[in-house]
Amino acid sequence: MKKLTVLGSTGSIGTQALQTAAAAGYAPFALAAGGNVRLLEEQIRLYKPKYAALVDEDAAKELNAAVKDTATRVLGGPKAAETLAETPCDMVLNAIVGIAGLPAAVACLRAGNRLALANKESLVAGGALVTRLAKESRNPILPVDSEHSAIFQCLQGIPGAAVQKIILTASGGPFFGKSKEELTNVSLEEALRHPNWSMGAKITVDSATMMNKALELIEACWLFDVPEDKVDVVVHRQSVVHSAVETVDGAVIAQLGAPDMRLPIQYALTYPKRLDGNLPRLSLTEYGTLTFSAPDTDAFPAISLAREAMRSGGLAPCTLNAANEEANTLFRQGRIKFTDISRLVADALQSVPQGNPGKLDDILAADKTTRAYVKGLL
Ligand code: NDP
Repeated sequence: MKKLTVLGSTGSIGTQALQTAAAAGYAPFALAAGGNVRLLEEQIRLYKPKYAALVDEDAAKELNAAVKDTATRVLGGPKAAETLAETPCDMVLNAIVGIAGLPAAVACLRAGNRLALANKESLVAGGALVTRLAKESRNPILPVDSEHSAIFQCLQGIPGAAVQKIILTASGGPFFGKSKEELTNVSLEEALRHPNWSMGAKITVDSATMMNKALELIEACWLFDVPEDKVDVVVHRQSVVHSAVETVDGAVIAQLGAPDMRLPIQYALTYPKRLDGNLPRLSLTEYGTLTFSAPDTDAFPAISLAREAMRSGGLAPCTLNAANEEANTLFRQGRIKFTDISRLVADALQSVPQGNPGKLDDILAADKTTRAYVKGLL
């Protein structure tokens, strides 16, 4: 069995990755999370990894005491996930939520480990740095996000020059069809009710604002080396067509599948091979009708903000990501309204001074400045 490190192992993607690993030929080697002692202890007992880490130091001490009878070595503290990311293994799957995943992605690539990336925020905030490191390490980043996995699958065998555009599909989230006015008073509970996917709270709210698609647009630009105007967003309510690529001759090549994250996770782990992991199969006749429409950028301005940030370049996408992470948290804490999220992101993009991303520290400093700015607006 190959050695798999899962960062964010207690989350939605992390737990599905652990379910998928054995069929893909991997055994969990190291597991990291934020502070969830109970679930990480369960995972240690089930998967017997060599290492486990919690970034919350007190939680790590508690975990260490709880698993004293096992052979797993427990690490703790803010750099614990980075330490595991750079420890030699066959694959690091980064499923940490938010900018916290960036230092680990950087550490993984610098150490020459292979990276399967679910943590889109690291590419949005640090795209230039992360893609440069991936090129230098000669290891392509293996996308886990279902849309980017779809595009990656469609691109197999297609030379870069033959790509006309990328067609990124979006479910439209729980508020599809609502006007700007109707969105003003939607609740957190409604925002967390995603029609097709069961995911962590942050990304579910991002899907409701369509900021998730905005982040994915930026992620696609970096992963596939295309400008923002070569990425179209199409609302496709059924989440069956996971995305598509149009080639210069007008052919459109799409990847379809049941809405289940275990397939893109498995493909990242087995690439370039494919295997039968006993995952749910798609029945096109059961769906019958697949629909496609343009996004409503008036009610959901996030996609336009992402395009603006990519055109501005430099640290603007980092600002967009940081403002969104902060506003998303404030909304989940009940401190701002749903429509304030995009408003605060737009404000930050206009007002926070943006330089050029050089080193990791520059990106993390810009992230911190933006978060302070957004909090200061309350
Ligand atoms: P969850 O909220 O379900 O899980 C997040 C994971 O990150 C948990 O294991 C959490 O640990 C861990 N974590 C949080 N903060 C830190 C930190 N500072 N250091 C280390 N670990 C940390 O998120 P999801 O699984 O939904 O999403 C993870 C990433 O994957 C996101 O970037 C998301 O955008 C992306 N993604 C998710 C999809 C999905 O279907 N869920 C689909 C496509 C992409 P703890 O439990 O201890 O807090």
